[in-house]
Amino acid sequence: MRNHILPALGALLLGVSSVAVTAAPAVAASPAAQSPDAVAQALAAKALASDLPMQIVTDLTTELGPRLAGTAAEKRAADWAKARLEKLGFENVRLEPFTMAGWLRGEEKAEITGPTPQPLVVTALGTSVATPPEGIEAEVVIFKRYADLLDAPAGSLKGKIALVAEQTVRVQDGSGYGAAGQIRRSGASEAAKRGAVAYMIRSLGTHDHRFPHTGSQTYQDGVTKIPAAALSPPDVEQIERLAAKGHTVKVKLKLTPSNPGTVTSQNVIAEVKGREKPDEIILIGAHLDSWDLGTGAIDDGAGVAIVTTAAKLIRDLPQRPKRTIRVVLFGAEEYGLLGAKAYAEAHKAEMDKHILATEADFGQGPVYAFNTRVADPKHPSIVRIQNALTPLGIYRGDNAASGGPDIGPMMQLGVPVVNLALEGSDYFDTHHTPDDTIDRIERKRINQTAAAYVTFTYLAAELDGDYRQKLVAEGQGTATGSN
Ligand code: ZN
Ligand code: ZN
Repeated sequence: MRNHILPALGALLLGVSSVAVTAAPAVAASPAAQSPDAVAQALAAKALASDLPMQIVTDLTTELGPRLAGTAAEKRAADWAKARLEKLGFENVRLEPFTMAGWLRGEEKAEITGPTPQPLVVTALGTSVATPPEGIEAEVVIFKRYADLLDAPAGSLKGKIALVAEQTVRVQDGSGYGAAGQIRRSGASEAAKRGAVAYMIRSLGTHDHRFPHTGSQTYQDGVTKIPAAALSPPDVEQIERLAAKGHTVKVKLKLTPSNPGTVTSQNVIAEVKGREKPDEIILIGAHLDSWDLGTGAIDDGAGVAIVTTAAKLIRDLPQRPKRTIRVVLFGAEEYGLLGAKAYAEAHKAEMDKHILATEADFGQGPVYAFNTRVADPKHPSIVRIQNALTPLGIYRGDNAASGGPDIGPMMQLGVPVVNLALEGSDYFDTHHTPDDTIDRIERKRINQTAAAYVTFTYLAAELDGDYRQKLVAEGQGTATGSN
């Protein structure tokens, strides 16, 4: 008896505001007696009380640490994940390698050299070229908004360092970051076109602490590649204050990243085979790679833990759901969704067997909305999934979901997708920083998210439904991408 009581008690102690979930029955030995809705409810209760999400994210971030794409560290994490998934009892556990252009961080240093010498806290943006060994010293031109840089005439930044000081807006769904993303991704080439010798940004973050946020950027073909870096918010404000007092601010920037050439990354795949329609796939993903400044706990160790827990709880049911659940831990998400593109290419032939796909790549949650992109947003099975999510505090969102960054390439090939929208008001406080560590993860939050994912995943795999007929074209979906 005690074993049956504990999960419900655990959920109660966690303070989840759902009476229905805490009162869920345990999964019975004779599954035929239980409706899918009752099984889902019991799975949610188990997730709320589970130690597994914290165990996985703790082990990944502690034993493996940072997992920069295409490095030995990322490969070690993939081997670790494969062994862990096998130990948890998954089927068809495998690595699917692909190649990419490697990048390694080097020394990174910046200082104000005029009017008065002062150190700055800086980090290189991913794929940035190096400065000359002695660094670049030049006058800084500040752009309050990115649009102001784009308005600057050709040649106007000749010999200067461009600095975009625009702030990232704190929004629950991360859309503030979506709007600011081009500052980091595209700004270096825009500055170079206008003659700049280096490019710096106010970190894409929503805090005022003295650490910088890294993240990928891309050079335009045919444009001179200049070094690109992010400063901490207080450092940018220091430069702005000096400039506001009428000083010409000079900065010296030294970055020594290197390019090891073509390297290998990999996706890690595991399955719970379906009992009736094993060739039909419900895909739940997360990404295993991380930036190298922290240990990748919120981005995206949490996601790895959430989807693995969801699939594991379903795997342990006395009766499998009808469809196959496929867990994909993508590699090299941070460098432009390279694992996602490799997966979509390698599995092109079975894309029409992907019934629904989603990802957990926006921190630890909790989940507050259920968004879809399906032919019929009022499909009876979608309604049943929503009804099962409501007791967890999740409302029915829109039908313009993107599925998550790594799901994009699949969605482009016609796969219906959903988003379990994760509370992201604090996500960009630590995203891509040295502060993205296990200390940020709260058991109560990550367990609610695991409960939402197991509820969705189980019902999507058990309930009948074809969500792609008459698939509506609604553009590119909601901007929840965060690579
Ligand atoms: Zn991520
Ligand atoms: Zn990221």
